[in-house]
Amino acid sequence: MIELVPLVRQFQSMKQDILQAMADTIDSGKFILGPNVQRLESDISAYLEVSDAIGVANGTDALVLTLDAYGIGPGDEVITTPFTFFASAEAVSRVGATPVFADIDPQTYNIDPARIEEKITPATKAIIPVHLFGQPADMDEMMSIANKRGLVVIEDACQAFGAEYKGRRVGSIGHAACFSFFPTKNLGTIGDGGLITTSDKEVAQRIRRLRQHGSNKKYYHSEIGYNSRLDELHAAIVQLALSKIDSWNKERMRLAVRYREAFKDLPYLRVGPEPQDRSHIYHLFCIQSEHRDQLQEALTRKDIQSGVYYPRPLHLQEAYASLHYGPGAYPVSERLSEQLLALPMSPFLLESEQDQVIDVLIGLKGELKP
Ligand SMILES: *Cc1c(COP(=O)(O)O)cnc(C)c1O
Repeated sequence: MIELVPLVRQFQSMKQDILQAMADTIDSGKFILGPNVQRLESDISAYLEVSDAIGVANGTDALVLTLDAYGIGPGDEVITTPFTFFASAEAVSRVGATPVFADIDPQTYNIDPARIEEKITPATKAIIPVHLFGQPADMDEMMSIANKRGLVVIEDACQAFGAEYKGRRVGSIGHAACFSFFPTKNLGTIGDGGLITTSDKEVAQRIRRLRQHGSNKKYYHSEIGYNSRLDELHAAIVQLALSKIDSWNKERMRLAVRYREAFKDLPYLRVGPEPQDRSHIYHLFCIQSEHRDQLQEALTRKDIQSGVYYPRPLHLQEAYASLHYGPGAYPVSERLSEQLLALPMSPFLLESEQDQVIDVLIGLKGELKP
């Protein structure tokens, strides 16, 4: 079996260090918001060149707390992409605001800046671009729209730790950004975790307060908050992963080049172009094809996992029936939900395994027409 993401290998490669970090944490007696979280926050803020990084319980909470910290709530609208993991919009709904979708660019699968302006109303407060599959969204265009209209930009960087956009790392470009340490993310742990970055001192302070029950001083609460903290064990594990993230991302990019080379002349599948001004760290490597389901079946027959991200755009989710979007509302997202297929990708994927994936897809030459 060739897995989509060989996670066990990844964490086994760090197992001795993880066990040592766990033992050290037990001996320290500090379990919540202790030195491990502090060190990780300070190392990530240095890595991303932002003033603050704030550990929280997961990536979804990162979005919720950030929206809340900016005072976004009932009556407000937030523009985001319908082609993302559900949490990007769910967080907006969770604070009582309404997600408004703008369709994606068919080449990059990221929110299309040209579609944003037409969605802005007097109720619009923020834009959440998602750096989908590890490729940075068009941040310059986004920031210029936002600055002109007085909107907040919250990067959903959950799939793109370490990716660069015009020489800056994602997570340092918008007003704030959200990361997830869910196990399969390119920077992950063996459980849940999340983090918010910002260089707005006031917002950072508010988020620090919100994550622990609206309190700066124990047992004194200035507002209604949350219990949403990154715990010491996961902070220690993410710290270990952080020391490897650049080489892991590089390996993902190297494998992506191998896929690209192998597929470049196949008429029945495409790989999106790589813009020159940003780095795609390939949290997922997706191919696009009208024959998606056949390609997936061929891989499954050879015991190779693949994945559909995402089979249903958010505007067509049952949970958003009340928003009254029908099929056809976001044609690019809808088409790509039928055509994209994620292939095995991980710094722990072996070249020999990747070659098997490639062989299966190239081997379909006789069966499939363009
Ligand atoms: C994973 C993910 C999230 C949510 O992160 P969790 O830690 O699972 O809550 C949000 N947005 C995107 C784009 C993601 O991929």
